[in-house]
Amino acid sequence: MKLLLWLAIAVFVIWVIRSNKSSNKTSAAAGTGRPDRSNKSNRQIEPMLQCAHCGVYVPVSETVTDASGKVFCSDDHRLQHARS
Ligand SMILES: [Zn+2]
Repeated sequence: MKLLLWLAIAVFVIWVIRSNKSSNKTSAAAGTGRPDRSNKSNRQIEPMLQCAHCGVYVPVSETVTDASGKVFCSDDHRLQHARS
């Protein structure tokens, strides 16, 4: 019976070692997901431009520019600034 107990302990130890190795693999796989996070941080770094009408800072990709190169936060402000 003692032999069976030792065998069970040995199997348990091997199972713990294997599960630790597999958890290392999953953490390495999670590491491959990190470039996605860096992409998100790159979006946060996106330069901000000030609206010529209301003065609000807007990400470059969301800005509207008129013929003279002035930057606006929205098409409405571009039209309002053209009228004034
Ligand atoms: Zn504006």
